[in-house]
Amino acid sequence: MQNFPWLSTLQQTLSEQFAQQRLHHALLIEAGRGLGKREFVLNLAAGLLCETTGLIACGQCKSCQLFASGSHPDLFIAEEPEAKSIGVDLIRQVVNKSQTKSQLGRAKIFIIPDCEKMTEGSANALLKTLEEPGQDTYLLLTTESESRLLPTILSRCQKYKVAPPKLLEIQNWIKEQGIDFTDYSDVFELVEQAPLIALELVKTDFLTQHKRFLADFKLLITGRKSAFEFSLNFDDKHYERQLDWMVNAFNQWLKAKLKQEMTDANQAAKRLLLSDLTLLITTSRKQMLQSGSNKKLIYQSLCLSLEQKLR
Ligand SMILES: [Zn+2]
Repeated sequence: MQNFPWLSTLQQTLSEQFAQQRLHHALLIEAGRGLGKREFVLNLAAGLLCETTGLIACGQCKSCQLFASGSHPDLFIAEEPEAKSIGVDLIRQVVNKSQTKSQLGRAKIFIIPDCEKMTEGSANALLKTLEEPGQDTYLLLTTESESRLLPTILSRCQKYKVAPPKLLEIQNWIKEQGIDFTDYSDVFELVEQAPLIALELVKTDFLTQHKRFLADFKLLITGRKSAFEFSLNFDDKHYERQLDWMVNAFNQWLKAKLKQEMTDANQAAKRLLLSDLTLLITTSRKQMLQSGSNKKLIYQSLCLSLEQKLR
């Protein structure tokens, strides 16, 4: 696995607990997006399954080879591609499999990524297993925010929260990946402290696209380009990103405006306008995410509404 420096303290803590046979059988890893929590629990699973002692997978033994080929019989990842929730059927599979014997005679691992996606029924079905999973069985749960989990789940897990790295740390890490890139500030402003997302972005022409979009957007909001002309830039694959850029641009714009406005009333008016604009964007986003929606048309009518609001 790649070396993620912001996860090394947690790795160290868990390794020590494992060595002292104190590692909890149900771990909940809370980390924001782009911090590598999925890679981390997969790595942890490989380490627990590996035939060598310790929590670091050797990469050589039979277990590690099965793991690498994606066919380890004692690893189960409770997820369905594209599914919006983790249904009770999937959790019942976890429960049933946890009651069978380990096939390689070592640990059994169950990973539940984005466990906040469990329905209430799923969560309830898991409780008993979470409490008493059986010999050498580990449940590894991840979430972006533990506030979205039921207290019954939380109370049965040992929780660890990953702190996002500082910008300088991310910058150094990206450099270590062999990427020669000097102007990070724009990327970081957009992705906050998510190093994996930042890395993806600096590998592509994301920044050029962003700059072009912003320049165009400025023309729209200052009336130098019509909503129709502007909306021709609609990107079917990255429309969510385009909406993020709009919100971000409005926020920047508000910050600048607030500095100029001296009266409370004028400042309040600007804030109100911003919340109106943001609401328009959020509403359009929801409409676009509905299946079968005409995204381009929604985008066009959003641009038109923004134009009207700003005149
Ligand atoms: Zn191994």
